[in-house]
Amino acid sequence: MVRENEIRENEVAVTPPEPVDAGLVFIGRIHTPWDQRLLCPRQGRADGPLCRIEIFEPWAQALRGVEAFERLEVLYWLDRARRDLVLQSPASNGKVHGTFSLRSPVRPNPIGTSIVQLDRVEGNVLFVRGLDCLDGTPLLDLKPDRSLFKPIAAPQPGDDETGEKAA
Ligand code: SAM
Repeated sequence: MVRENEIRENEVAVTPPEPVDAGLVFIGRIHTPWDQRLLCPRQGRADGPLCRIEIFEPWAQALRGVEAFERLEVLYWLDRARRDLVLQSPASNGKVHGTFSLRSPVRPNPIGTSIVQLDRVEGNVLFVRGLDCLDGTPLLDLKPDRSLFKPIAAPQPGDDETGEKAA
């Protein structure tokens, strides 16, 4: 895993296509106590420090109902990560792992996800615990924790399908 954009022994970088981020809209900003990658938790913890998720306009009204969920899934853009490594060495020991077998911030599309504990909502700001990102990290999306969410819309046939089916 790359901590400060360096390349380690046996790690492999490729020349990726020019990144095109225009398809995503940053809907807010995450405020955390960490201003350096080396100080961030590797994964957030439910009893970690209180962090703030600020929602930009015009999205604040989309927060209606989130307070019903004890836990939320947060998706964010790990904006300071390099994106070109296909093999990484998290332990810096020459042993390498494929990017898609890791939760490293270094990936072609640097999306991070965390399940956070919702402490409270104040206007357009959520107070949560369980994040692991740098202060100022852009927010991509918020959803209720899957395990707490029951679909509101009517069921669909696929809901009951089981077994194998060739795609
Ligand atoms: N929990 C998320 C996941 O599993 O998808 C992210 C895990 S990633 C291992 C967390 C690490 O990413 C942090 O320890 C820090 O080194 C790095 N990081 C955090 N915020 C970042 C940012 N905005 N840009 C680049 N790297 C970041």
